Amino acid sequence: MRQQLVDSIRKHGIKDETVLNAINKVPRHLFMDSGFIDHAYVDKAFPIAADQTISQPYTVAFQTELLQVKSGHKVLEIGTGSGYQCAVLIELGTKVYSIERQQQLFKKTSKFLPKIGYRAKKLIFGDGYKGLPEEAPFDSIIVTAGAPFVPKPLLSQLKVGGRLVIPVGDDVQTMTLFIRKGPKEFEKHEFGKFRFVPLLEDKN
Ligand code: SAH
Repeated sequence: MRQQLVDSIRKHGIKDETVLNAINKVPRHLFMDSGFIDHAYVDKAFPIAADQTISQPYTVAFQTELLQVKSGHKVLEIGTGSGYQCAVLIELGTKVYSIERQQQLFKKTSKFLPKIGYRAKKLIFGDGYKGLPEEAPFDSIIVTAGAPFVPKPLLSQLKVGGRLVIPVGDDVQTMTLFIRKGPKEFEKHEFGKFRFVPLLEDKN
């Protein structure tokens, strides 16, 4: 079933075989609530705890492809959620730091990921708008919730040559890639439209 999912994502336009290979390895069914397990290998987003969603596999692949990570890269994820995207990044050999603002999800995923053998460098309960200055700079940063604007700290926490992939917009988001070209120079590229749960500012 996972192989079929990968084939459908490939048909949908994802070309990076290392990314497809990582998706092929992560047991997505373990990341879903039991009521949705039958849908684990359907290319759709699904509800997880705390009114959040596990992203659609195609979207995970799309964002991961844009990151162009290499083994050993230091990556920051904003929006740990179920931990699925985090596991895909770990499969690619990266050192992942991931921030989640919902305590319930943070606790659940912090226990769950190591249990199935995925060890992030650090899972953090906090506000992703601030990034993680104490661990910066990062080779890449991925935001997995819809951001109403691009948080400045995320741009400033990129290495020169580093990449930020962030869906920007309110109801519908434009997938946006920033590449840091120099201390103050950024290149911006825009891709298609996506729909994410919102990147929220204050904690519950
Ligand atoms: N990457 C996740 C997708 C989760 S959906 C996965 O693979 O399952 C987006 C997540 O972003 C939600 O869990 C939500 O709680 C979280 N989030 C929203 N605003 C945030 C913020 N300011 N800081 C950190 N996480 C945030």
